[in-house]
Amino acid sequence: MTGAKMKSKPSMTLPFLTSSSMEHREVQQCTLLSIKTGGCSEDCSYCPQSSRYDTGVKAQRLMSKDAVIVAAKKAKEAGSTRFCMGAAWRDTIGRKTNFKQILEYIKEIRGMGMEVCCTLGMIEKQQALELKKAGLTAYNHNLDTSREYYPNVITTRSYDERLETLEHVRDAGINVCSGGIIGLGEAEEDRVGLLHTLATLPSHPESVPINALLAVKGTPLEDQKPVEIWEMIRMIGTARIVMPKAMVRLSAGRVRFSMPEQALCFLAGANSIFTGEKLLTTPNNDFDADQLMFKTLGLTPKPPSFSEDDSESENCEKVASSH
Ligand code: SF4
Repeated sequence: MTGAKMKSKPSMTLPFLTSSSMEHREVQQCTLLSIKTGGCSEDCSYCPQSSRYDTGVKAQRLMSKDAVIVAAKKAKEAGSTRFCMGAAWRDTIGRKTNFKQILEYIKEIRGMGMEVCCTLGMIEKQQALELKKAGLTAYNHNLDTSREYYPNVITTRSYDERLETLEHVRDAGINVCSGGIIGLGEAEEDRVGLLHTLATLPSHPESVPINALLAVKGTPLEDQKPVEIWEMIRMIGTARIVMPKAMVRLSAGRVRFSMPEQALCFLAGANSIFTGEKLLTTPNNDFDADQLMFKTLGLTPKPPSFSEDDSESENCEKVASSH
């Protein structure tokens, strides 16, 4: 290839000319909306939505269908192919009316040609089946950290309960989205432990969100020092190696990283991001800045994918989020 031809290649392509992997140029854009904010009974020590902490987040009711659909349309117009809805609940048991409403939201958004994901806390087998029937693509339920470090972060539900929810999701034929957060005060071994647990599930999660803690004032973790980009790159790169077909999502904390820093995360193996003004309640990258990043780095938006039985499979495979 001539020097001129080489120079005309997108910046992100050049490093890959020496490797076999060009597919990292395709990046999935997901939009996460908090459809029911705050007032959560759980004690996740990183979360501003827990009613136990004084963070200034006001508890709100479930958003109306109209408002959710307007947000989904806006996300689609902005290039997002997956719409994720988050509700600050421990679980959905005893929330029959709200759950039914959410099933309606799923049907409608799926009908718009978008992949749909939910993060609603713990779910039972029956609920997973109902979500699947409504057309849900993926369910997010993060393990957050290693089994050993977990009790330092959350005491109101166990690691095994989390794994049980993932099992219900998988058994219902819904894609599993599960990852964690770094910067909680955990040791290097805990990061390895989290990835080991995810990589040794009966099948790998289709999506693995890697979050960097955004310390929020009023939470027990408010004084944690920010995660460095190199820690993020190491975590993403390791996730990519141990779960080669998963969508590895550069999630919460991205707002703190510059475009060159994010480029390194893509080179390390991230192939999914959250777009939109907010990630549940914390700030996220500006839409225009993301557009510019795609253009500058030569990234291409990943189209939505749906399998024949309408469940979708992201090459195999699939939230700061939380849960
Ligand atoms: S992370 Fe989810 S379950 Fe935990 S306190 Fe926040 S909203 Fe509640």
